[in-house]
Amino acid sequence: MSDFDIAAYIGDVPDFPKPGVTFKDITPLLSDPEAFGRAVDALVASAPEDIDVVCGMEARGFIVGAPVALALGARFVPVRKSGKLPRDTVETTYDLEYGTQTLAVHTDAISQGDRVLIVDDVLATGGTVAATADLIHRLGGSLVAVSVLMELAFLEPRDLLLRRDIDQVTALV
Ligand code: 5GP
Repeated sequence: MSDFDIAAYIGDVPDFPKPGVTFKDITPLLSDPEAFGRAVDALVASAPEDIDVVCGMEARGFIVGAPVALALGARFVPVRKSGKLPRDTVETTYDLEYGTQTLAVHTDAISQGDRVLIVDDVLATGGTVAATADLIHRLGGSLVAVSVLMELAFLEPRDLLLRRDIDQVTALV
């Protein structure tokens, strides 16, 4: 495991989705079952004990979060963009670089006292994790940790997360 370099399976795509932005492309990782399996194993190993719920955010958080939830024996809860979930939801709106985004979760997906792990592919500004934390807290859940494949440290997401009292953050790279 120690010789596993996950960064080698994540590509840089310049000028996507717009000029000046370099997009981290995880599809090479997903297309290699051994590497993807090792990445999931590492996320599972980073999780605290007794996780009840894994929250994964649309869309790549579904891909990475669902196998982590299965391995932990936890419920997987999709956090979706507004208007996609069929039953009662709580929603939160947060700022993007241009405009806003609203995320939603089913109101019965998380119960009072549930220990929740957030799993996503890339932690960039931290806004998506912070918004998801807000949904978890409003449903009475306890956010105990955040685990991601990759952190874009130059965007300083941990500063934002620390201001929201989120300090248990693991990034594989
Ligand atoms: P944040 O809210 O931290 O700024 O952005 C993180 C969210 O946007 C994550 O859900 C992630 O999937 C997506 N994201 C932002 N930048 C990238 C990127 O370069 N590559 C990938 N794969 N996802 C990104």
